[in-house]
Amino acid sequence: MIRLARMKWSMTTSMDAPGTSSGPNPPCEVGRRHPRDKHRMRPVEGFDHVWQCAKHSMFAQLVDKATAGSYERGDAYPMHDGGDGIVVQHGDERQGGVILYYRAA
Ligand SMILES: [Zn+2]
Repeated sequence: MIRLARMKWSMTTSMDAPGTSSGPNPPCEVGRRHPRDKHRMRPVEGFDHVWQCAKHSMFAQLVDKATAGSYERGDAYPMHDGGDGIVVQHGDERQGGVILYYRAA
């Protein structure tokens, strides 16, 4: 019975996990701090749950809460493309994860 319950649990959580849709494009971190310059980021082609603001050279990625919690502003962050990044800010929570803003180091 326990095993059955576990299977059901894992199926449910995998359905709730960030999957095919990562939701609306997040606002650019610069725009969050400057209400007069509000704009949204664009999805990065070829990467799931990654967005970019070309204007401000800013990236955002949807990560799980544990990952987000292990990074602070200014920490080195491995970018989606394998490059070196620096954490800029934590963003909004969504789908059980957190938006993490970063830029190239
Ligand atoms: Zn921007």
